[in-house]
Formats: sequence, C-alpha cells, structure tokens
Amino acid sequence: MVARVAIDLALDRLFDYEVPEALERKLAVGQLLSVPFGRREARGFVLEIGERGTGNGERVLKPVSAIVDVTPFFTPKLLELVRRVTDYTAAPLESVLKAAVPAAVMRRNARARELLFVSPSLAAEPVALTPRQRWLYDQVVRLGGGWMTQLVRELKTTPSALKALGARGLVTVDVRAKRRDPLAGRRILPSKPLPLNPEQSAALAGIGRDSKPTLLFGVTGSGKTEVYLQAIAREIEAGRGAIVLVPEISLTPQTVNRFASRFGDLVAVLHSALSDGERYDEWHRIRSGAARVVVGPRSAVWAPVKDLGLIVVDEEHEPSYKQEDNPRYSARDVAVLRGAVEGAKVVLGSATPSLESWRNAETGKYRLASIARRAGAGTLPNVRLVDLEDGGAGGAIFSRDLLEAISLRLDRGEQTILFLNRRGFSRQYVCARCGWTPACDACDLPYTYHRADSCLRCHVCGGWTELPAKCPDCGGAEFVCQGIGTQRAEAALRKCFPKASVLRMDADSTSRRNSHDDILGAFRRGEADILVGTQMIAKGLDFPNVTLVGVLNADSALSMPDFRASERAFQLFAQVAGRAGRAELPGEVLIQTRNPADSVLRAVVAGDFAKFAASELAERNEAFFPPYCHLSVVALKSKDARLVGEWAAMYAQSLKLYAARIKAGRMLVSEAVPSALEKADGFYRWQVVVRSTSAAAAVRAWRWISSARPPVAALRVAIDIDAVNLV
Ligand code: ADP
Ligand code: ZN
Ligand code: ZN
Repeated sequence: MVARVAIDLALDRLFDYEVPEALERKLAVGQLLSVPFGRREARGFVLEIGERGTGNGERVLKPVSAIVDVTPFFTPKLLELVRRVTDYTAAPLESVLKAAVPAAVMRRNARARELLFVSPSLAAEPVALTPRQRWLYDQVVRLGGGWMTQLVRELKTTPSALKALGARGLVTVDVRAKRRDPLAGRRILPSKPLPLNPEQSAALAGIGRDSKPTLLFGVTGSGKTEVYLQAIAREIEAGRGAIVLVPEISLTPQTVNRFASRFGDLVAVLHSALSDGERYDEWHRIRSGAARVVVGPRSAVWAPVKDLGLIVVDEEHEPSYKQEDNPRYSARDVAVLRGAVEGAKVVLGSATPSLESWRNAETGKYRLASIARRAGAGTLPNVRLVDLEDGGAGGAIFSRDLLEAISLRLDRGEQTILFLNRRGFSRQYVCARCGWTPACDACDLPYTYHRADSCLRCHVCGGWTELPAKCPDCGGAEFVCQGIGTQRAEAALRKCFPKASVLRMDADSTSRRNSHDDILGAFRRGEADILVGTQMIAKGLDFPNVTLVGVLNADSALSMPDFRASERAFQLFAQVAGRAGRAELPGEVLIQTRNPADSVLRAVVAGDFAKFAASELAERNEAFFPPYCHLSVVALKSKDARLVGEWAAMYAQSLKLYAARIKAGRMLVSEAVPSALEKADGFYRWQVVVRSTSAAAAVRAWRWISSARPPVAALRVAIDIDAVNLV
C-alpha cells in the first residue's frame, strides 16, 4: 500500500510512502502523518491511498513513521474543496491545506488541557473518617465533584486531602480534558425565535428550496440575522451543522452573543483574538461534532463541521473576505463552492451586495430574497447632499449646513459621527479648488499618482501621463494628493465647537492595543459628543444616541483610482447612513460634495441600490470589468529594482502573446506598471493586469510563462485571481 502525502513545507507536490502493514487498517485519507523527509521527520496529510502502480513499482519507498491523529483532519469532501480552490487560485496545495487548518491545531506541542477531576464514587461507604474528612467528602458529594484546583480553592483544602479520600475509594481522581472556552465568564441570556414578518418568512422559506445559493438583500436592521438564526435552527433540528462567516471587524461580542444566546454550547467561535488553546479546543469541538454552529471570519469557511447543512456569509460584499496572500481565495466564493461540494445551503447577506453577487442573482445563478424595511425599532435616516461649492466657505472642511446640524445635536445632547474617506497609500491626484481628477480615457478610471517618478499611471491598462499643470475645469494650478486628514478635521472641529468633546479614531489613534474598543466604548457611554474617523467607524456599530452622521468628503471616495470606487463608495455611504437612527430617535445624514448631481450620490440619497447597480453594471459591461470579466493581477516583487521592472515587462509581453492566440473568450493584458505602493518591506513591486472571460485562461497563461521562463531566485511572482485590490 502507498500513501501519497502533502508535506508541510511548500513544495507543491505529493510524496509517496510505503504503508507498514501494522498501519494499513488504520490509515485513512485526510489523516495527519509523520513521515521521514531528508534527515528529519516531517508532517503531512495523506491525500491519496493506493496500491503500488507502475510509476513507483520499482523504487524503494520510505515507510510512514506514524499516524499523528487517526481522526482525519479533512473529510473527502473537504479535500475535494481544497483541490478545487487550489486549481482556481493557482496557489500551492500546501498553502491551501495550511489555510484550512489553524496553526494552533497543527503545532507539535498543541494538545488539550488535561487536569485532574475529582468525582464522588458511590460504591464505598464513608466510614472511619475524621470529622474533617467526613466534611470534605460531603462537600464533594454535594458539588457532584469538580476540578481538583477548583475544589482546593473553594473548599480551602489540599490536593493530598482529596487524594486521601481517593485512596479509600470514596472519590475517583482522573485526568480529563478541560475546555478552554472563549465565551467563559460572559453572561449570555438565552433568546427565543422572534415571529418573522412576511418578508423574513419568504426569505427563510426560499433558503435551500433548490441547490441555488440565496442572496439575502436587506437594509441594515432589516432582521437578516434573525433569518440566519432560524435557518440554522432548522439545520440543527435535522441533525446538521452550520457555518456563519462575518467580517473580522464585525466579529464583536454582540455578534457572537446573538448566536450563543440562541444555540448555547453548540456554538464555536473562531477568531484572531482567541488564545492558541481556545482555538485548539474550539476546532476539536467542531471536528468531533460537539459544536455544530461555527461563527468566524473568512478562515472559518474551512471549519470541519460534521454534516454541514448551511453556510451563511454575512456582509458578503466585504473586501476582507478576500485573502491577500497565498492562497488568495475569496471566502465568499469558497463558501458557494463548498455548498456545491457538500450539498449544503448557502446564504449571502448584505444591505449592499457586491455587484458580482447581484449579477449572479440577475442571471438566476442565485436566488434573490429582499427585505425592504427595518424590523425592530428605528427608521431609515433621512439622507441629504450638501453642495460644498455654495454651502462651504471656499475650501473649508465644514459646510454651514453641517455646522448647524452639529450644533443642533450639541444643544439636544445627541451624538454625531463624522466620517472621512482615506486610504493610506492609494494616491489620488485632485484639483484642490474644484475636485477634478485626471482619468485615463481608455479605461475611464482615475489615474494613480506615483511619487517616485512624478507621473500619473492607469492601473488597468498601464498607460501613463505627465502631471497636469492646470485644471481643465477651473483653471486652478494647485493639486492635492490626499484628502483631508482626521487630525485636521478634529482641529477644525475644536475651533468651531470649543465646548464639545471630540474623539478621533483612525489608524494612528488605534495603534495602541485595545484603543479601538476603548474609543468606541467611551463614545457609547456618551463620554463624547462627536466621533471623527475613517472607514473604521463605518461598520457594524450600533450607537442608539447618534442622530447625525456627516460624510466630510464624498468626492474623494468616488475618485479613488479603482474600478470599484463607486461600488465601495455606495457601500460605505449606505453603511455610515445605517449608523444614524438605529433606535427611537430619527437620524439624519449629510453628505458633503462638490458634485451634487453625481448619479452614485443620488442613488445613495434615494437609498436605491437596484438603480445604482443597474447603471454601474452597464458601465462595467461596456468597459469589460468584473463581473463581466475576471480581473487578475500578476504581482512581481524583488529587492532588485531593475530586475523586477524587466521581468514585469517580459510578463506583460508574453501574456499579450498568449492573449492574442486564445480562441474562446477575450483576454486583455495591461502594460507592466509599478504598484501604487511601489516599495514595501524592502521589495520593489510591479504588476500586470489581466482581464479575461475565463479565470482558468489567466491561470493557464501564467503557468505557461512561468514554466517556459522560471523566475530567478531573487524574484517572486504570484497571480491573484479575481483581485480585490488593484494597487
Ligand atoms: P440585520 O442583521 O439585517 O442588520 P437584525 O437581525 O440585527 O438586522 O435585526 C435588527 C433588529 O430588529 C434587532 O434588534 C432584532 O432583534 C429586531 N428584529 C429582527 N427580526 C424581528 C422580528 N421579526 N420582529 C421584531 N423584531 C425583529
Ligand atoms: Zn479644478
Ligand atoms: Zn487605462
């Protein structure tokens, strides 16, 4: 018998081992093995088991050393999923296997926490005891036993006193695994299913009616989570399990509590703040079937849930579902794939679906379920555009309208959130006077400003142009590369409202550990009147006393050099708007802009996602952008600036040759361009963008070049299929 094993060093191939007779009957696909590798022992997963074939018939194979764990880490279906994701993303197989099992589980010294447990044994008679021993015995019986350390503490006794009872056969002392529970010490009150409104009922009924995934499109607060909860309850009743994916940032105690309230100990939580021990235990509870509902971020899509019946992807449009490093997978897409492989139902939920999913609903690949109203307390806020041209006193950060609205809140003791769009290194080039942004004609996309060689480049076609001397719209000669910073906004605010207390939240103010929670906690407790922040404050937060949300610079979000700029802007504004008026108090949203006629902003005001999606999709189709193509980035990096530039040019040229020869579908290849973040961690970075009708065609093209001219050691080349970041 031969085992084909994927070794845990990224080698991207399988190795054959002889299976000793003693192990033959225990060996199963998906198990973790220990095998000799070179001069050391390595670990690896068995992916295939077979008889000696002609290929390896002659060679002497080394034998498998041991089975590390007889319970397989991967079911055959999970392995099938791993293979499909490996094929689709062109990532090394080991990287996908690694992504699928938490490191805390794989560590050599990882194990369950084992502690002594004392339980009363009812067989023996408590005779001939000292009064003190008699008392201790009675206490152990009364408590029904307990952990040794706990009993010692609570009964003010010693381990030897308890062991002495054990020696007389009055109690048994044995070693048991003690769960490290991430929710320990939390007060979680049980909750009951709410009676659903008609839209919620219809959505619930549609889930899993056939094999199609459901796109649950419901405004913030429309009761999507209640629908998830009841869909999960159905699965549990049928003896199946579920996975709920949430973006890491919204994996707050409140979110987790809602699931734990309904399903108690059946819930396992996986997120980055867990200790290794907690993660180890949660994962094993999932694999053993003790936990049936997994709540976690993108990596939870791999959780080894038994009899998986349902996968929920909440906020399915969130870019954080895409992993930016090998394997570059989208957890949302893997969820859909896993649903198909395992025959599980899939629900993708959002108030602002990704255009990829929206399009899939249009073509009938997904089933659409809509909830148009808020379910509980609160109404959707009133959204209004404020023209910075006539409302703001020339270049000021705050328009008169916004200042008045803020001062009204201060008078009433209500709270305000002010929101700035800003991304660290993605550089825009904007006329300081009128907000005009130079854009590539061919792609209809704002240029990215490259500081190093002081020019503007298009990141889709690779074209470039010189910096404009004058704005063609207003004649202004001053340009800015970034929007207003939060610090400047905060300072201006303090000047206007010296008595108000202001909190600021951005990357700088949150670098200290926990300060994120500290700031939000303080704001929630009403310790400040105004919170100023970046997109960080836009998501998932619920502040009942916030009645005003101001977006300071909508135009900067819309002119991001990214073909998804409008989509992201719509999502962002809809989400920040969702922050106002969550409770009884009605909310107001003011969006400051220089282009009040902009169609995206008009759609935000109207709260009309469908209309926005229709016009945006028409433009994407016209320009051959996703979801009408797959956009992939071939990313090159090296410490040698000249080398990486030359190779990027070679890749661009070869990809173009390949593109010219393909028969089915289209493929467009950009020139080689330095990435917007040209240098990071000492590496110079370049990229080539491939837009193709089929994702597999891009992978084939990339493989063809990489095998014809294998990259030199000083260079790293990767392909990012369905790239989320163009920078
Ligand atoms: P979403 O997930 O769409 O943002 P939630 O599920 O959080 O919405 O629901 C928002 C609020 O409405 C919650 O407080 C929830 O308890 C309440 N809610 C949801 N469904 C119902 C219902 N059918 N009846 C009454 N209240 C509901
Ligand atoms: Zn201008
Ligand atoms: Zn272009």
